[in-house]
Amino acid sequence: MNTYEVIKKKRDGHALSKQEIDYLINGFMAGDIPDYQMAAFLMAVYFRGMQPTECVDLTMSMVGSGSTIDLSPIKGFTVDKHSTGGVGDKTTLVLAPLVASCGAVVAKMTGRELGHTGGTADKFESIPGMRMSFSKEQFVEIANRIQVSIISQTETLTPADKLMYALRNVTATVDAIPLIASSIMSKKLAAGADGIVLDVKTGAGSFMTEYADAVNLAKTMVGIGEGAGKKCTAYLTDMAQPLGFAIGNAVEVREAIDTLNGAGPSDLTELVLALGGEMLTLAGIAESSADAAQLLQSSLATGKAAAKFKDLIKAQGGNPDVVENPVLLPQAKQQLALKSNAVGFVQDINALEAGMAAKILGTGRQTKEQGIDLSIGIVLKKKVGDSVEPGETLAELYTDGDQAKIEPASKRLQAAYTIGPDHLDADRLIQARVAVDSIEEYGL
Ligand code: URA
Repeated sequence: MNTYEVIKKKRDGHALSKQEIDYLINGFMAGDIPDYQMAAFLMAVYFRGMQPTECVDLTMSMVGSGSTIDLSPIKGFTVDKHSTGGVGDKTTLVLAPLVASCGAVVAKMTGRELGHTGGTADKFESIPGMRMSFSKEQFVEIANRIQVSIISQTETLTPADKLMYALRNVTATVDAIPLIASSIMSKKLAAGADGIVLDVKTGAGSFMTEYADAVNLAKTMVGIGEGAGKKCTAYLTDMAQPLGFAIGNAVEVREAIDTLNGAGPSDLTELVLALGGEMLTLAGIAESSADAAQLLQSSLATGKAAAKFKDLIKAQGGNPDVVENPVLLPQAKQQLALKSNAVGFVQDINALEAGMAAKILGTGRQTKEQGIDLSIGIVLKKKVGDSVEPGETLAELYTDGDQAKIEPASKRLQAAYTIGPDHLDADRLIQARVAVDSIEEYGL
């Protein structure tokens, strides 16, 4: 085989065989195919796309470039959930113990902050003592003992994705659906769960802002998952405004605890019930979505879900008392109110801008090596559809007192709000469900 010929074939719009794709990925990993040829291939994919079978072959070749997690020693159906990323997305913190408390096994890997979005591993680490790094054996042992274990992504998984992502980042080829889908699904498949539920975000605060693109991404990822022999479905969910009220780390854990206690924001609760229902159905624990909703709601109401969260914290070295006593979470030095200077209704809160305001305030890292002050964050007091008077609080800022961060963050958050005379409803939270052979669209 010849690298030039393979690139030319894709450039001219033809489908590549599994052998040709393996040749490219293996050659790239071995250092026989240089960056410039891989970059040319990525650009050819950007313009020509890939057939569903090519997407599966590319993903499996990327999975084969590194180690994988064998979850077969775990008793029961293992189910994973992945979000394409958004602002205030603390879903996993609620969903993992909730679904585990209903009988499915959630053994999953989770990421750190990316761009304007936060990372679930960082959020968990705001629980005093909580560890997110374990050996494969310990990970499996915890999942077998308490039905849930969550660790941060290991370095040895899908190294091809890491190298290709770095190239895409500097060659304007990040936003190509076959490349995004294979990048995400390679990590999900290497992590080994039997079933995968995808939460594909759409709207200003997502990486796929247009609805039609998000549908295509969802279809491509579900096709890859099913093509690789997994049970896989996707939901398209709104990320025009932030999810829930809290944006940050400790503040999001607190909101997750409220939700596990049945007192969370309505949008987060609705999302958790939909994704959780899908996970229980995939796992064969619920026969219908009505069945699943009943199981999940009863687990929230009886305290079973909150108790499972305590089990998870304890098993991973954290202090489970935070569930009863959230003041044990890191507390910010200073709390400030961001006041409205307008009258009317909140018509939009641009989630990207709100996420950036939180980053400026200090919820993320400035450099790769830097730690995060986990107490910093934003708690929105007004969301789309709410009425507002001049001088009313739009949001509370949890800060370290550094004026050089507070001023620009406040300006950015103020500008993220659109306040106008007419009452507008927020976009529908759950906009579509995508399965391998069907799509149900619910509208905006
Ligand atoms: N997240 C990923 O893991 N990969 C992409 O390509 C985009 C988002």
